[in-house]
Amino acid sequence: MPVTDYDIVIGLEAHAHLLTRTKMFCSCRTTFGAEANSQTCPVCIGMPGVLPVINRKALMLALRSAVAFKCEIPATMRFDRKNYYYPDLPKNYQISQNYTPLGVKGFVEIETSKGRKKIGLDNIHLEEDAGKLLHPEGSGAVYSQVDLNRAGTPLLEIVTRPDMSDLDEVEAYMETLRRTLEALEISDCKMQEGSLRFEASVSLKPLGAAELGNRVEVKNLNSVRAVLNALAYEIDRQAAALDARERIDRETRLWNEELSRTERMRSKEEAQDYRYFPEPDLGPIVVLDEWLQEISASLQELPNERKWRFEDEYALPSYDAGVLTQKRAIADYFEAAVAAGRAEVSDPARLAKVVSNWVMGQVLKELNDRKVEITDFPVTPERLAGLVTLIESGKISNTIAQQLLPIMIETGEDAGRIAEQRGMLQVSDTAEIEKLMDEVLAANPKPVADYRSGKKAVFGFLVGQAMRQTKGKANPQVVAEILTKKLEN
Ligand code: ADP
Ligand code: ZN
Ligand code: MG
Repeated sequence: MPVTDYDIVIGLEAHAHLLTRTKMFCSCRTTFGAEANSQTCPVCIGMPGVLPVINRKALMLALRSAVAFKCEIPATMRFDRKNYYYPDLPKNYQISQNYTPLGVKGFVEIETSKGRKKIGLDNIHLEEDAGKLLHPEGSGAVYSQVDLNRAGTPLLEIVTRPDMSDLDEVEAYMETLRRTLEALEISDCKMQEGSLRFEASVSLKPLGAAELGNRVEVKNLNSVRAVLNALAYEIDRQAAALDARERIDRETRLWNEELSRTERMRSKEEAQDYRYFPEPDLGPIVVLDEWLQEISASLQELPNERKWRFEDEYALPSYDAGVLTQKRAIADYFEAAVAAGRAEVSDPARLAKVVSNWVMGQVLKELNDRKVEITDFPVTPERLAGLVTLIESGKISNTIAQQLLPIMIETGEDAGRIAEQRGMLQVSDTAEIEKLMDEVLAANPKPVADYRSGKKAVFGFLVGQAMRQTKGKANPQVVAEILTKKLEN
């Protein structure tokens, strides 16, 4: 059976480093790239007898994510020990949350070409990261080294339900999660530095079957690309196995980037293998209502929600709304410009699309060329609104407006003043245009004769000539009217 005869079922686990200066249970720094083992202390290297102290900032950031993703938050929560042995974990246990994760249920709403979809969250919990093993290059090396700088870094784990059914959804989920955590300043989400990592679980089942198939968990995924490639490989592998009536083992596999394939690592461990028990060195945390209220009150609109609001409120195409909400400051700029322009224009519905075109086009281009952030852009949203208002009221043409923007950037002046001082205002004075048209017609006897003998296509050429004469300042509509009148006579 081809892959299309199976339902694909995917769930993701994300690990994100929280944006704190210090570690989860000690005051060591979390700066990336510091000299190996320079950011360690007895607590995070697991010396006997030390006691952990909870990082308040980490707790608040984790709660912020639970509120943002509409999770249920327990009134009292605890930490638990997850016991396992590995050389990058000197304590032999990781402090995590198993019995009372700080958020359950909730969802991340994504958008693909098929529309919007809520990807359910199983839970969000807080834990600490492990250290890193370094395996020196070269075949002769018979040892590994350990860097414990990362040990004890506050780590947020976000576990979805098995709700994704194709790779588009997986990609949209990863992108939405990254954008949201970044926008809410919960994590910097630098995948190349390991501050956002994914593990994927995938299974197949016959189309429409109620029961889920055995899942395989894939680890060692270092980029969005790797997640998608590994899943594509795994889906094909499982489909072929099921076709051959083989059973899929519940196992953990590793993505081999070089060979572009997944490889069996171990049979899947179960929760009981970790001998979870309540962390005896930390008391329960009572989540105060006032914390949650404070977090809710200060929570900004999620990037996707803002995009969808832009589509509704400003009647923008999905594409525009997506570009404008890519960065919070750009979206803020757009909204401020529309608000400033609203009072001035006769057609406020059109205004949003015109401003959007300007922001997505010239403004982003200038920012990029000049390597400045929008918050430092000399053309304030009010100034851009002024420029757009001049166009919409017919005082300047689009061509002139495009020349005006760079001058506004250089001089910091508003569009109206520059246009006036430099004689760039559009000429709508019919007498003046009539005179110009006579000159244009006199200078172009051949096209005029062509037009009069029925070759109407030369009309555009004559308009072009007229616009050139006026350096783009003549109102094209007036030009067209007068030209028609003169040619038809
Ligand atoms: P464990 O505790 O064994 O790691 P979880 O219940 O936490 O298992 O699930 C881990 C991940 O696997 C979750 O993201 C979940 O959505 C996903 N998952 C669970 N069952 C399936 C399945 N049958 N097929 C695909 N993914 C699954
Ligand atoms: Zn420490
Ligand atoms: Mg799990």
